[in-house]
Amino acid sequence: MREITVLGAGVVGMTSAYELARKGFAVTIVDAAASPAEAGASFGNGSQLSYFYTDAMASPSMAASLPKYLLGRDPAFRLEVILSPRFLEWGLRFLANSTQARFERNTIDVLKLAMHSRKEFAELSGRIAFDHSRTGKLNLYSSKEGVEKARQLSDLKNRFGADQAMLTPDEAIAREPALAHYGHSFVGALWSPYDESGDSHLFCLGLRSILESDFGVQFKFNTRIIGINAKSGRLTSLTTEEGEIPCSKAVLCLGSWTAPIARSAGVHVPIWPVQGYSMTVAATAHAPSSNITDVSRKTVFCRIGNRLRVAGLADIRRENVGFRKDRFSTLFETARGILPKAGQYDEEVSAWTGSRPVTPNSQPIVGRSKVNGLLLNCGHGTLGWTLSMATAKVLAESAVNSISGS
Ligand SMILES: Cc1cc2nc3c(=O)[nH]c(=O)nc-3n(C[C@H](O)[C@H](O)[C@H](O)COP(=O)(O)OP(=O)(O)OC[C@H]3O[C@@H](n4cnc5c(N)ncnc54)[C@H](O)[C@@H]3O)c2cc1C
Repeated sequence: MREITVLGAGVVGMTSAYELARKGFAVTIVDAAASPAEAGASFGNGSQLSYFYTDAMASPSMAASLPKYLLGRDPAFRLEVILSPRFLEWGLRFLANSTQARFERNTIDVLKLAMHSRKEFAELSGRIAFDHSRTGKLNLYSSKEGVEKARQLSDLKNRFGADQAMLTPDEAIAREPALAHYGHSFVGALWSPYDESGDSHLFCLGLRSILESDFGVQFKFNTRIIGINAKSGRLTSLTTEEGEIPCSKAVLCLGSWTAPIARSAGVHVPIWPVQGYSMTVAATAHAPSSNITDVSRKTVFCRIGNRLRVAGLADIRRENVGFRKDRFSTLFETARGILPKAGQYDEEVSAWTGSRPVTPNSQPIVGRSKVNGLLLNCGHGTLGWTLSMATAKVLAESAVNSISGS
């Protein structure tokens, strides 16, 4: 049997393992944490299966806002001055993707990938309990200019079957009564009927059972990878804190930790961590049933079972600074200001932080690397949960081809 090692047990590593096992590979997953999706972005993200809100991060309006972010004038976004050649290269490529033409192309390329993912999720979702819900999504805009821009982009997306519609505030409240308690004012809401939600951590735990019972996938948890070794351009082994693991075929799925580990094998991946926060509280009777995104405050609300998950903030920093109380408070107060009645904010609050592995064009990096035997499935940015099933499929195809081609 063909053996392959998957590095990382976040949602991207877990779905990669699933598709590889279905192709007949004997899969071993290695992760530093004690269980799947425990330590990375797949644990506490915004929970949205955002198949049609695939807007690339690099855009003309983002580029125009950079001075505001640098000066700390937008509570949702922070940008530090980072004097590193790697950041400079990433930043310049990000800026090059900020033209209107590139923004639209990147958004549509990711939309196509997301539509593929939607089909794959539909097949698997019945086998896993992950608080899955198909209740659509509303994006709220507080300015006429925002509405106009969103309408233009939705015209483009509708050519690909998005079926999005711009609603007036009254129409939006009729569709989602929780918006009657919205704490600010909005002038329009974009309705995406096919967007879904679900808890990616629960999904990964359920997928682990399938991987073990149906395919005999092996897990090596509590095993931190320090480096990847190659000889004459071919993958030979992994160095871990637990010792050397020989392997001739592997997939790199380490989310925002990917770049430094890839560099140990001489592979360059343009990924920069963009840190965000989430909070989870008990949902009330006034919690929305659809996913809600307050676009100007860059905050998403999602009901998962009887819980309300709120996620937001995007901090680009020199290094991972871990959990910062002041940044979490910003999210907490913003959430309470937007939908004050939706959650039991004064009861138990689960606070979390994690980083999105962002590429300059917001597209994941999937397929072969320059090291023979080392494949990549990384850089899923703001949409890794949404895109994971599609990129796993593409990766598995690439693994099969790389065997027949090697
Ligand atoms: C605040 C926030 C909100 C988000 N909201 C959404 C959303 O609503 N919808 C959506 O689709 N996406 C969302 N995302 C993005 C999504 O969560 C990520 O793109 C996705 O989880 C990335 O998955 P991954 O498996 O690549 O990485 P991760 O989930 O980060 O997994 C990486 C794994 O690698 C392991 N690891 C790291 N270093 C090592 C090492 N040296 N050795 C061994 N193991 C190691 C970690 O333990 C971890 O298990 C959000 C992200 C954030 C931060």
